[in-house]
Amino acid sequence: MQLKGLPASPGFSHGKVFILSNTDECSKPLAIDQADTENHISKFYTARDQTKADLKETYRLACSKIGEAEAELFEGYIDILMDDEIEEGVIERIQEKLIPVDTAVREVFKSIADEMGELDNEYFKERVSDMNDIGRQLLDNVLDRKSSSLDSLKEPVILVARDITPSEMIRIDLSKVLAFVTEEGGMTSHVSIIARGREIPAVVATGPIIDKVSPADSILINAVEGVVVINPSISELKLFAEKEFAYLKQHEELLKVNALPARTLDHKVLSLNANIGNISDVRTARKYRADGIGLFRTEFLFMDKPELPSEDEQFLAYKDVAEAMNGAPVIIRTLDIGGDKPLPYLDFKPEENPFLGWRGARISIDRPDIFRTQVRAALRASAFGNIALMIPMITSIEEMTILKEIIDSARKELYASGVKVNDKVEVGMMIETPAAVMMLDEFAEVADFFSIGSNDLTQYILAADRNSAAIRHLYNSLHPAVLRAVKQTVDAAHKAGKWVCLCGEMAGDKHALPILLGLGIDKLSLSPNAIPGIKKLIRSLSFAEMQLFAEKMIELPSTHEVQENILALLKKEHKI
Ligand code: PEP
Ligand code: MG
Repeated sequence: MQLKGLPASPGFSHGKVFILSNTDECSKPLAIDQADTENHISKFYTARDQTKADLKETYRLACSKIGEAEAELFEGYIDILMDDEIEEGVIERIQEKLIPVDTAVREVFKSIADEMGELDNEYFKERVSDMNDIGRQLLDNVLDRKSSSLDSLKEPVILVARDITPSEMIRIDLSKVLAFVTEEGGMTSHVSIIARGREIPAVVATGPIIDKVSPADSILINAVEGVVVINPSISELKLFAEKEFAYLKQHEELLKVNALPARTLDHKVLSLNANIGNISDVRTARKYRADGIGLFRTEFLFMDKPELPSEDEQFLAYKDVAEAMNGAPVIIRTLDIGGDKPLPYLDFKPEENPFLGWRGARISIDRPDIFRTQVRAALRASAFGNIALMIPMITSIEEMTILKEIIDSARKELYASGVKVNDKVEVGMMIETPAAVMMLDEFAEVADFFSIGSNDLTQYILAADRNSAAIRHLYNSLHPAVLRAVKQTVDAAHKAGKWVCLCGEMAGDKHALPILLGLGIDKLSLSPNAIPGIKKLIRSLSFAEMQLFAEKMIELPSTHEVQENILALLKKEHKI
């Protein structure tokens, strides 16, 4: 059986299925029959016993790995798990409100965690993530699903899931993942971004697949065309092998071209940089000869841990990247959490529209302590390489002013205490909101450079959620409105003598490249393994011709016409 999805990270793979159960699925039906209450109560007690046994085992392991004092935490977990308040809360919900056991467990843990978070007491606030952790373990046992981590796996697998949240992604041991297949998600969802960074093939948005596969099934992934084949026939295996061979051959040829500069036929050079999420992505960036790191998504450092990373931890991470890049520019984006990336240990209140809510720079302004710590770490690391800072999700000049003041005061503080800091660290901003586009001239006075976040800019200009399957046909960075915003950004930056990069997924899209080149973008930052293909295309185009082409494209009234013209251009020149 074949399914079609989006080719989110190119490559081929063949292996056994592992189904990642989704942690947040709600129980159906929403209410149970009176006759079923005993059953649900007994499920709770069995799951609680199992969780207690699991925690004892974790305590034993922790004693031998990290010592008795540190392991005490897990003994504390057992006390919380066995607490009367939890038992009574769950039983009451099942017996009196006829709520299914899994929902009851979720509700009880959430309400206790919420109460603890609201107390004016740091100790209790810090225990919120412990509550969430215990709740998740109990829920895993209630639902009889093994933890989402792949610890128990002996052999590498193809991971099949409804969707994978950024925090689930962090818990997955990527060395055991041959490929990803998700029912939902899009080219810019985080599983896609991480898969591309690690060169793990991924097909997303396949629609229902979990019901169609079982754990022992074997599947083929052709993540160049976005095809998934379940239990392939001999002829399908043969065709797959042929396509994989052709792909690998083409990839090898691209790598040869990649040693050459990204220069057009008429000698215009574009700087091609890599998007990374952590130090291990630097290897891929170097392998594909990135000119620098154009976007270091630092949120992964924060999601990787049960608590905020310290200044020293961050300093080491930024220093490692700066040193590994050997003097090439490294743009550290300050924390861009929120939207589809909440942090379990930060107090995120439920929001109707998280992408329009507490995210990016807004959190940095409300939590200057977090921002200052990150900035101090980055400034300290600036002595070891060529670091710049970049602020996401800016909508007003005031936000830039406030955050730049914190950066300045952190710099002065470090100087005063004798810490070495590069005094030329640039501070740029992402252009990813319509407000930023409408006030480009003012922003050009306060930012050292612009970087267009086309993933968000497309979502906000078109009012189209970047991760929604239902409106995927509306989410398109080739929409003339988005292209005009890119042109305005480039023109405003150049008028003010500043450079401009584009670091959304559009930067790795061959269909967008002729226009971006023609509009005069200075730098692109993209998934490292997309660099060779983009470089080859740049080398086959004339900048002067693309300037004329881009002028024509931004005048067109529809996405459809832009796409037709680009396809005609690329086909005529045999560029794809
Ligand atoms: C963007 O919005 O284009 C971007 C690069 O940032 P992120 O995808 O991390 O939101
Ligand atoms: Mg963004």
